[in-house]
Amino acid sequence: MNVGRGSELELDAGELKRKRDGKMIIVSMCLAGIKCNYKGQSKPNKKVIELIKRGKAIPVCPEQLGGLPTPRSGARILSGKGEDVLDGKTKVISDDEKDVTENYLRGAELTLTVCKEHEAHVAILKQGSPSCGKGNTQGGEKERKLVNGDGVTVALLKRNGIFIYSEEDLENDEIWEKLQAK
Ligand code: SF4
Repeated sequence: MNVGRGSELELDAGELKRKRDGKMIIVSMCLAGIKCNYKGQSKPNKKVIELIKRGKAIPVCPEQLGGLPTPRSGARILSGKGEDVLDGKTKVISDDEKDVTENYLRGAELTLTVCKEHEAHVAILKQGSPSCGKGNTQGGEKERKLVNGDGVTVALLKRNGIFIYSEEDLENDEIWEKLQAK
């Protein structure tokens, strides 16, 4: 699988896996500086990019893996909780009012598959996303807004024992040192 083709980060996942003997950190692809978010923009984070360049991390975009185009419509979880989506209790609805639940579930499952392939027990994911948000996601009954809750991918990864950090957690020196030592 090639990731980041056409960006400043041209990576080959197989090559990185060999380099790290399987143990990788999974990171949100938009944090790697790749223009994959719903607006077709990136949210580059220097520390995430450093981890990738040092062969410790691999970028993944659950929404692209789920088959959604870039750019795409924003989306919200009707209850504001990714866990409820996993349990079939609520839906993910796009800003143009389409039911995109299946895309979000597929993206979460494929991200989990990547974690398993690379024996990743840690992920660094972008705050505030309906997929990648940890503790903050997109919710709202009628219109999208930031609410408390995990995104769909975060909920599935947590259920499978994967520890989630957000990009904001990287500002904590203790956490950053721990991640660099992995
Ligand atoms: S937050 Fe997650 S799903 Fe959204 S663009 Fe970044 S990697 Fe993709």
